Amino acid sequence: MIKKNISLKKYNSFNIDVNAKEFVEVNSKDELIEIANRTKDKNVLYLGGGSNILFTRDFDGIVIHLNIKGVQFEKTNSDETVVQANAGENWNNFVEFCIKNNLGGIENLSMIPGNVGSAPVQNIGAYGVELKDVFLTCEVFNKNDFSIKTYNLEDCKFDYRNSIFKENKNLIILSVRLKLKNKNHKINSSYGGINDELKKLKISKPTIKDISNVVCSIRKRKLPDPKKIGNAGSFFKNPVVKKDKLEWIKKYFNDVPSYKLDDKNYKIPAAWLIESAGLKGKELDGFGIHKTQPLVLVNYGGAKGDDIYKLSLSIKEIIFKIFKIELETEVNII
Ligand SMILES: Cc1cc2nc3c(=O)[nH]c(=O)nc-3n(C[C@H](O)[C@H](O)[C@H](O)COP(=O)(O)OP(=O)(O)OC[C@H]3O[C@@H](n4cnc5c(N)ncnc54)[C@H](O)[C@@H]3O)c2cc1C
Repeated sequence: MIKKNISLKKYNSFNIDVNAKEFVEVNSKDELIEIANRTKDKNVLYLGGGSNILFTRDFDGIVIHLNIKGVQFEKTNSDETVVQANAGENWNNFVEFCIKNNLGGIENLSMIPGNVGSAPVQNIGAYGVELKDVFLTCEVFNKNDFSIKTYNLEDCKFDYRNSIFKENKNLIILSVRLKLKNKNHKINSSYGGINDELKKLKISKPTIKDISNVVCSIRKRKLPDPKKIGNAGSFFKNPVVKKDKLEWIKKYFNDVPSYKLDDKNYKIPAAWLIESAGLKGKELDGFGIHKTQPLVLVNYGGAKGDDIYKLSLSIKEIIFKIFKIELETEVNII
C-alpha cells in the first residue's frame, strides 16, 4: 500500500519533520521485489530505523521502509552458532535475543539504534568490536538487475564505518548471518571504560550479560537519547592522519590523543578536535553540538535538517582551519 505525502518525523532519529512524496512498508522479500519492480524509474530511498540519516528537505520520491522480520538459528557446532536475522529486525532487540540465548560476540554492540539490515552498511562498531568481527554472510538484492546474491566477508569490503553498501546504493541487504560463540567466547572489556565500570561493580568474571549492561549504562551516560533529543549518533568519523601531521598538531596541542593503527597511520578522536576548537555545547536556534559528546549534533526540537547540515559544514571548515584535517561525515545526508 503506497501512501502519499507522509511525514518522516517518526522515521528518523533526528526527528526532522519532512515529507516523503510516497511511502511504503515492505514486510517480506516478495513484497520488496514487487515494489522494486513498480518503482524502477523512481527516486527511491530504502530506510531502516532512520538513525543514521539527516533529511535536509522533503523527499521527492518513494521511501521504502524495510520491515522484514524473522530470526533463526541455523546450525551449531560445539562452540559456534550461526544466527540469521532479517533486515527489519531491530538491532538491539536482536542483540538482547542473542544474549538471552547465551551467544557471545555482539554484546559490545548493545544499544546501537537501527535495524539489522543497516548494520553492515557502515560496519557498525563500538567498544572495540565491529560487525565484521562476527559477520558470516548477507543476502543482497540488487535493485538494478533484480538478482539476489550471497555476499561473504570479502565481498562486503568492510572498513572503518564503511562497506560496499555505503558506496553502492543499488545493493539492498535482505538478511544477515553472524557466527556467534556458545562456548569459549573471549570477552572484550578493554575499551571505553568497561573495565573501570566492572571494577566499580566488583565483577571480576563478567558474563556477556554483564558486558552488555555496562555498555548500556556507559552509553546512557554519554549519549543523548534520540527519543528525548534528536540526533544520529556520531556525525563525523574519527580522522586517520599520517605521523608527520600528528607531530605537527602536537607542536601546538601537546595533549592530542591518538591511536596508532600501523607505523604510518594514527586515529585522532574527532570529538577531541571539536572540543579543542571550542565548539562543544554550542547551541544555535533549536539545534547545536551536544554538551557532553561534541561528536553528536542535536535537534533540540523543530530544527530544520538543512540548518544541521550547514552547522556540520561550518564545523568542518573550522576544524580544517585549525588542524588542517578534513572531517568526513558519517551520517547519510539526504
Ligand atoms: C544515539 C545513537 C548512537 C549511535 N551509536 C552508534 C555506534 O556506537 N556505532 C555505530 O556504528 N553507529 C551508531 N549509530 C548510528 C546508527 O545507529 C547505525 O549506523 C545503524 O546501523 C543505522 O541503522 P538504521 O536502520 O537506523 O539505518 P538508516 O538510518 O535507516 O539507514 C542508514 C543508511 O543505510 C541504508 N540502508 C538502510 N537499510 C538498508 C538495507 N537493508 N540495505 C542497504 N542499505 C540500507 C539507508 O538507505 C541509509 O543510506 C548511532 C546512532 C544514534 C542515534
